[in-house]
Amino acid sequence: MDNCLFCKIVEGSIPSNKVFEDDSFLVFHDIEPAAPTHVLIIPKKHIASMNDVQSEDFAMIGELHRVAQDVAIKLGVASTGYRLINNCGPDSGQAVAHIHYHLLGGTKLGALVQ
Ligand code: C5P
Repeated sequence: MDNCLFCKIVEGSIPSNKVFEDDSFLVFHDIEPAAPTHVLIIPKKHIASMNDVQSEDFAMIGELHRVAQDVAIKLGVASTGYRLINNCGPDSGQAVAHIHYHLLGGTKLGALVQ
C-alpha cells in the first residue's frame, strides 16, 4: 500500500530492527519502546485496522498469535508475562494505519487504561 509506513518497513525501504520474519509476518522492535521488551507484530498484508479485518483474514490473524507466542519465548518474557495490545481507531491512539500488535514485557506492567 502506497504511503503506509509499515508496508515500507515490510518492503525494506524503511529500516527496522527485526526479531522475526516469515512469508506472512514481520516482528520488529518499536522505535520508542514503552517497556524493556516492546516489539510490533504485523501481518505483511496491508489491513488498516481491526475494523478492516475481513472473513478471509481471521485465520491469518489467529496465526499471528502463534507468532506472538514464539516471539515471547524468544525474547525471554513468556514465563514472566507480557501484554499483547492492538490499538484500533482514534480513541485508542492508533497512529499507524496498518494493523499491528504491541508485545510488551520485561517489567511489571502498569494499569491497562490510563
Ligand atoms: O498503536 P500505535 O499505532 O499507536 O503504535 C504505533 C507504534 O509504531 C508506536 O509505538 C511507534 O513508536 C511505532 N513506530 C515504530 N517505527 C516507526 C514508526 C512508528 O516502531 N518507524
